[in-house]
Amino acid sequence: MRIDLASAPGDPERPNEDWVSAAIPAAGGGVLVVLDGVTPPRGEDGCVHGVPWFAARLGGRLTELSGSRRDMPLDRILAEAVRATADAHRDTCDLSHVRTPQATVTVVRWDDAYVEHLVLSDSVLLLQAPAGEVTAVLDDRLDRIPREVLRSVAATDALRNAEGGFFTAAADPAVAARAVTGRTPRERVRAVAALTDGASRWTDTFGEGDWAQCLAVLRKEGAQGLIGRVRTIESDPERRSARYKRHDDASAVYAEL
Ligand SMILES: [Zn+2]
Repeated sequence: MRIDLASAPGDPERPNEDWVSAAIPAAGGGVLVVLDGVTPPRGEDGCVHGVPWFAARLGGRLTELSGSRRDMPLDRILAEAVRATADAHRDTCDLSHVRTPQATVTVVRWDDAYVEHLVLSDSVLLLQAPAGEVTAVLDDRLDRIPREVLRSVAATDALRNAEGGFFTAAADPAVAARAVTGRTPRERVRAVAALTDGASRWTDTFGEGDWAQCLAVLRKEGAQGLIGRVRTIESDPERRSARYKRHDDASAVYAEL
């Protein structure tokens, strides 16, 4: 087994709000967890702790439960991790604030029999079959909302964790039912990768290659190699797009099972 991961802040002056972990539990198999913390517009979120605190709490709980509670499906684990994280700041913070700290979530867990996955919001999960075919698992609710709508803070807030909008892990455990989940027989998976949108833009924004080519970069050059390619494109004035942040926190993890 080989696991390779990297994470880079979008702005060296600001904390990286992505969170990545890989665990190889003693019982065999493994777990990957990738979170992309949502930066609150204007810095208002009703929380005294901040997004990095939230992502570390949620990610830590997800990793611990995924590794130790094989009997719990991943959506139940997400619900429990959200509840535990909310409990940790319920007394000090306004968890009903629409911008209470929140994150996209990707979890992959495998054992001898199955590879399980969970994807919530706009991170990307890639599954590669032994013959090389790559399947992307996406929660495309955010992509279905027109970009011009998302330019308005008020309009985005109205769609945040609301019916017809998009869902992130915030303070309500019920969001776990909105996650895209599934499982694949282990013998049908050779490799997996999880990317935050700052890294997946190599394919879905810049069109440098399809998902299979993206996975090939991860295999040959590692997670840092993929992020370095993204940063190179972002630094090219000809390629820069006004539609997106110039840089975003970027994280990638690649595992050959
Ligand atoms: Zn808080």
